[in-house]
Amino acid sequence: MLRVDNLRKRYRTGDEALKGVSFSVPDGEVVGLIGPSGAGKSTLIRCINRLVEPNDGDVFLNELNVTKLGRGDLKRARRRIGMIFQEYALVERLSVMENVLSGRLGYVSFWQSFTRRFPQSDVDKAFSLLERVGLTDHADKRADALSGGQRQRVGIARALEQDPELLLIDEPTASLDPKTSRQIMRLITEICRERNLPAIINIHDVPLAQAFVDRIVGLQEGEVVFDGPPSDLTEDV
Ligand code: ADP
Ligand code: ADP
Repeated sequence: MLRVDNLRKRYRTGDEALKGVSFSVPDGEVVGLIGPSGAGKSTLIRCINRLVEPNDGDVFLNELNVTKLGRGDLKRARRRIGMIFQEYALVERLSVMENVLSGRLGYVSFWQSFTRRFPQSDVDKAFSLLERVGLTDHADKRADALSGGQRQRVGIARALEQDPELLLIDEPTASLDPKTSRQIMRLITEICRERNLPAIINIHDVPLAQAFVDRIVGLQEGEVVFDGPPSDLTEDV
């Protein structure tokens, strides 16, 4: 469960990106974060894992208040938050398998990329995740040999390899065609339900969000202007 409570962020430039944002995401629920450019969506996602430091407010990941953690504890907390990115952020010269395994530590060492030495339990988990995302036959291919949709599947498997308690997903389909976008959204939402994982998806495409997510949170000028089921979202919000 994620709970964001009265989160505020004012950048040094004076831009007030978040003006007291509150909402929660229960386990297994996928929330689509929508709003016009500049609404504060990226800032919100970044404040949750403290890539951006909020000025005020709290972020609770289950019992843990992420905003109150010191450096070492924050590093451990970030291991509990899986990230999925628009441009996939794979290591192109490494194999699909190695990219998934890198979710374990956040990287694959130069040495590991030659020797392929990983604990067997990590390798087993990576294989079953590749199976879940439909990439078993591509495990040994280099990441740069894959299509966009396949790369995003690797990105999803990598995020799951770290056994996250929360997924933060930034525009996962912005670089994909409409059909592949729907497949990726279906996969993400199915996996979150299977694993009882809460997720926030920053997503531009409102109809796509409405078709797949459980709930929509609408941001505008740093404030929550809508929070409800996709079916309640009308033209004028
Ligand atoms: P998006 O809306 O897709 O997040 P933006 O163009 O708003 O993309 O932002 C791209 C990058 O520039 C981000 O890293 C964001 O934090 C940064 N950025 C956005 N607005 C400003 C600004 N006014 N001053 C400095 N950096 C900014
Ligand atoms: P969105 O993701 O919804 O497009 P952002 O979170 O990127 O919105 O931006 C929200 C507001 O904060 C905008 O006014 C933007 O210009 C500003 N902003 C974003 N990143 C930065 C930054 N690094 N420095 C200064 N202002 C920023």
